[in-house]
Amino acid sequence: MLERVATARLPKQADVVVVGGGVVGCAIARELSRYSLSVVLLERAPDVAMGTSKANSGILHAGFDAEPGSWKARLNVRGAQLYKEISEDLGIPRRRVGSLVVALDEAQRDTLEELRYRGIENGLTGLALWGRDEVLAHEPNLSPDVTGALWAPTAAIVCPFSATIAFAENAILNGARIVTECAVTGIEVIGGRTTAVETTLGRIETSFVVNAAGVHSGDVAAMAGDESVTITPRRGEYVLFDHSVGDLVHSVVFPTPTKLSKGILVAPTVHGNVFIGPNANDIADLDDHETTRGGFAEIIAGARRMVPNLPLANAITEFAGIRAVAGNDFVIGLSPLVRGLVHAAGIQSPGLTAAPAIAETVVAFLGEAGLKLSPNAAFMPINPVRPKFADSSARERAKLIETNPLYGRIICRCESITEGEIVAAIHAPCGARTMDGVKRRVRAGMGRCQGGFCGPRVTAILARELGIAVTDVRKDSEGSWLYIPRDLPQAESESAEQSYA
Ligand SMILES: Cc1cc2nc3c(=O)[nH]c(=O)nc-3n(C[C@H](O)[C@H](O)[C@H](O)COP(=O)(O)OP(=O)(O)OC[C@H]3O[C@@H](n4cnc5c(N)ncnc54)[C@H](O)[C@@H]3O)c2cc1C
Repeated sequence: MLERVATARLPKQADVVVVGGGVVGCAIARELSRYSLSVVLLERAPDVAMGTSKANSGILHAGFDAEPGSWKARLNVRGAQLYKEISEDLGIPRRRVGSLVVALDEAQRDTLEELRYRGIENGLTGLALWGRDEVLAHEPNLSPDVTGALWAPTAAIVCPFSATIAFAENAILNGARIVTECAVTGIEVIGGRTTAVETTLGRIETSFVVNAAGVHSGDVAAMAGDESVTITPRRGEYVLFDHSVGDLVHSVVFPTPTKLSKGILVAPTVHGNVFIGPNANDIADLDDHETTRGGFAEIIAGARRMVPNLPLANAITEFAGIRAVAGNDFVIGLSPLVRGLVHAAGIQSPGLTAAPAIAETVVAFLGEAGLKLSPNAAFMPINPVRPKFADSSARERAKLIETNPLYGRIICRCESITEGEIVAAIHAPCGARTMDGVKRRVRAGMGRCQGGFCGPRVTAILARELGIAVTDVRKDSEGSWLYIPRDLPQAESESAEQSYA
């Protein structure tokens, strides 16, 4: 089970400690669980998928973008291949929709040609240069100024939180432990090799530490005295649209890229929404997830160049994710200074796509560093399937309700999510503990009303199922309580209200 601060008893020793419960750390924990090892993943937030892995474009990139031979290029292509089987095994929603890089003038068409050659060098097949008419026939809502596009048929979209949670769940099912609300505060190094990690919950002795701490991977490396990782945080903001405009585009639509980023795109999500974004701005604070008025305007202007009639009245929310930029490539491999420390750091885009391939690579490095890799004979690659009411036929729904009447109670009207699904998500091996945890697992609160209707009902279900008071249920992080106890002294109640404002 996912272990929380209240219940977790930290093991005193582990073969490997993975720092960070993003898609990379969770994929690594799962890959390690193929072997007979004690594996502990430590995450400072209350849940997995609360860093960059919860706020990105959700694209499994085809792989034409990265410099041939780089980690990014090799692991993108391998990762995209691996997802075909993994998403089936782990129940990760994935849809192959293809992607278009759109040119709006003749000079940009030259860049498309360069991208196509780069893709071929990276081992891709099926890339094609389309003319204006072909592009507009495929995507009629694009600007008539389009002059052509690079079509990549293998690009796909996934749900990034589901991917992270699915890796975590499978790791747990195969014996790994995941402890949340447990920040790593130090790494003990004796005689040039890791011997233990210090955490907010205590100490774990270990000879192998994997640094998968996202934007904080520079800090974690420095805890071991390794200053080789420097992260520049680069924020990307998004605007998300409701299902009702889900057919605005059918594929991922990129502009011709710049040196800084792949540009502001317009893309479908695997759940039938559409989003625009991200922009790319270097920021000072590693955890600054603010969305800004300027960013909103920039995203709209960028997206309008490709899709002039944006349905802005159907925008339902904004969010931001932070790229962990460490130069042009991922930082993957053995620490140059500390034996037993392996970095999966600076994992910017295409890190979601590359995650399963990064996991294979990190485990190979751990083997090289002396970790004994004996296969876990009981390894089970498949996650249990949980019913999804909205995707079920009338007959399946009737059967579900007959077996468990909770599937007959719709809690989230926007997304048609039932109480049965919420209860199952809470009691799953990597179960939800917060309102946002429920949202990321079953989408209650992801729809047009953004939880305005179902929020209180989800809170009540969490309280009942976890055996806690509703005043102890949180939105997500420490202090994000949803209700103030009635008997709180007035001064405390006022300060609590202020902190929610
Ligand atoms: C705007 C944007 C768009 C993107 N779009 C795409 C895309 O479409 N396709 C794609 O392939 N990639 C994309 N990416 C990249 C992808 O999202 C990332 O590469 C990936 O999510 C990185 O995962 P991670 O596990 O390394 O980091 P994170 O998800 O950030 O996880 C790191 C975790 O470490 C934890 N942590 C940090 N310090 C400590 C500590 N001391 N102790 C314990 N825990 C700690 C954090 O709380 C966090 O949960 C995008 C990124 C951004 C920002």
